[in-house]
Amino acid sequence: MQDCIFCRIISGEIPAKKVFEDDRVIAVEDIAPAAPVHFLIIPKKHFVNALDLDPSDHELIGHVYQVAASLAREKGFAESGFRIVSNNNAGAGQSVFHIHFHVLAGRHFAWPPG
Ligand code: AMP
Repeated sequence: MQDCIFCRIISGEIPAKKVFEDDRVIAVEDIAPAAPVHFLIIPKKHFVNALDLDPSDHELIGHVYQVAASLAREKGFAESGFRIVSNNNAGAGQSVFHIHFHVLAGRHFAWPPG
């Protein structure tokens, strides 16, 4: 989508600090980190959020979690703990309307979240 900032990052039109990429997802550093480790795993297929998924997309979302776990091990924060967050619609804090998964680590995370 031409007006989607994450589609433009995926196409390379907008630069980003890439953490990982394969045929289905890209992971980039968040431009406004909320923790010492904060990157976004972004499916390359454009979905607005979880409300936009259908059953054929389930494997893709499982893949996102496998990528998150693999990067957590590789970058050394798997054992200390990390959070995977996906905000759905503005009331929950979604500001970019292309589905993405925040991966946060490197500090204590309170529960419940704010
Ligand atoms: P959300 O508010 O849950 O939709 O998350 C969107 C995230 O995208 C925010 O944490 C922003 O800081 C981040 N963000 C926005 N623009 C960029 C960009 N150009 N590169 C990297 N991260 C971005």
